Amino acid sequence: MIVMKFGGTSVESATAIQRVAEIVRSRRKQDPIVVVSAMAKVTDQLVAMGQKAASGDAEGALELLPALKERHLAAAKSLLSPKVFTKIASKLEKTFLQLGEFLRGVSAVHELSPRSSDFLLSFGELLSSQFIAPTLTELGLEAQWVDSRECVITDGSHTCARPQAAETRQRAQAVIKPILAKHRIPVMGGFIASSVDGVPTTLGRGGSDYTAAIIGGALNAECIEIWTDVEGMMTTDPRLCPDARTIRRISFNEAAELAYFGAKVLHPATLLPAIEKDIPVYVLNSRNIKSKGTRITAHAPSGNEMFRAITAKNGISLVNVVASRGLMVHNFLRTVFEALDQHSATVDLVAISEVSLSFTIESKRMPEELLAQLEKIADVTCENQQAIICLVGEDIHGRHGIAASVFSTVADAGVNVRMISQGASEINISFVVKESEVPQAVRHLHARFFGEPESSKAEVKLTLPDANGRRANGKKGRVAVN
Ligand code: ADP
Ligand code: ASP
Ligand code: MG
Repeated sequence: MIVMKFGGTSVESATAIQRVAEIVRSRRKQDPIVVVSAMAKVTDQLVAMGQKAASGDAEGALELLPALKERHLAAAKSLLSPKVFTKIASKLEKTFLQLGEFLRGVSAVHELSPRSSDFLLSFGELLSSQFIAPTLTELGLEAQWVDSRECVITDGSHTCARPQAAETRQRAQAVIKPILAKHRIPVMGGFIASSVDGVPTTLGRGGSDYTAAIIGGALNAECIEIWTDVEGMMTTDPRLCPDARTIRRISFNEAAELAYFGAKVLHPATLLPAIEKDIPVYVLNSRNIKSKGTRITAHAPSGNEMFRAITAKNGISLVNVVASRGLMVHNFLRTVFEALDQHSATVDLVAISEVSLSFTIESKRMPEELLAQLEKIADVTCENQQAIICLVGEDIHGRHGIAASVFSTVADAGVNVRMISQGASEINISFVVKESEVPQAVRHLHARFFGEPESSKAEVKLTLPDANGRRANGKKGRVAVN
């Protein structure tokens, strides 16, 4: 049995869903379980509706509803026979009525709690999965809709709930195994789950990848396939750098590090269940049924380059904390870390000198009272709109001159480095730059480290590109995807 997850762009239209059906057909013999995201942009639209409703603007919130409904109904109509469409349309109509009522309720109370937000966002995946299941059946792939809220069980941390492994395993097996036994294809929405007491929760934005891995882990799948809009995990985000190319093999650790530091192609927690059960994960292109994509496994052979990939994570705040005079150094560090702990602050990078400490945190996760508390013992500055750039590779450990190559390249790009972290993780070098300087820095680094895959690592070390990304030998850094 395998798990196949299709992201938002892979189910964005009737044509895309037909492609999904063909891809699923190609895996029919492997007993697929299909996990789908909401149609592209639907979750963003639900967020926008929620914000309008919470501000009391019921009209504004409801204004967006007819287009959303029309999009789902139009796709369903073009995919289903009239008889089945009539049945599914009335189901979808009911769901939209419920959504409308909910938005009116939110605007009446002027409040959207994390719990209500999860309820609201669950509509995206409920809607898509409810009509994709019968579509697969119509196309000759007997499918059965599964309510993810009945088989993915989480704690109550709304908006980024954590799965409860034992409960999920038991429920997922009880619900899904009988469907597989009847040779049907279970089709379920990703991202959505429920707490033990049945309240809808979500796994955090981009969480459908995680659902696929959770289900794969719970049912001991042979592999987990993440079908998306690019040809696998790439050497960097192709939107940032058009020269990015597909990585054929990558290790769990490297891929997890990339996902954590901003490679949106995988939700950061996706690899946890796969690592635990040693299940290979593939990232594949849903626009290319023959896609070879990327294979992610416990170990991956070394590539030709020094690094496996470069990633960037925006929306970072850089906090500098300088001890007030008179505070003992060890007390200073203890006090800062205690404050971080008290506020459950998840910091990404930390750098310490004798009386000062800098750390980064996602701006949207900055606890409200944290800075005020730190100001009691230290001078604190906080700079927003920063980004972490991270170069990942298992081969970098113990190699000479790598940091020098990285930072001289960033300097050549005219980019100022605000903070550096190397060594805490043996497989990455991370540093902080201004968000606006990310594209420049990443393009230079990519040209420097991925410009020529055939060249040896020693050569790469010696040939710095000029401002146009050209090496000393005059060759430009572009290489074809193999
Ligand atoms: P889906 O809707 O299929 O879940 P996402 O938009 O969440 O797709 O993720 C795919 C996107 O991730 C790509 O379009 C690409 O722009 C972005 N991305 C960021 N970093 C990488 C990377 N290293 N490799 C591939 N894609 C990346
Ligand atoms: N639909 C959700 C989101 O946009 C989950 C996902 O697509 O993975 O965040
Ligand atoms: Mg995604």
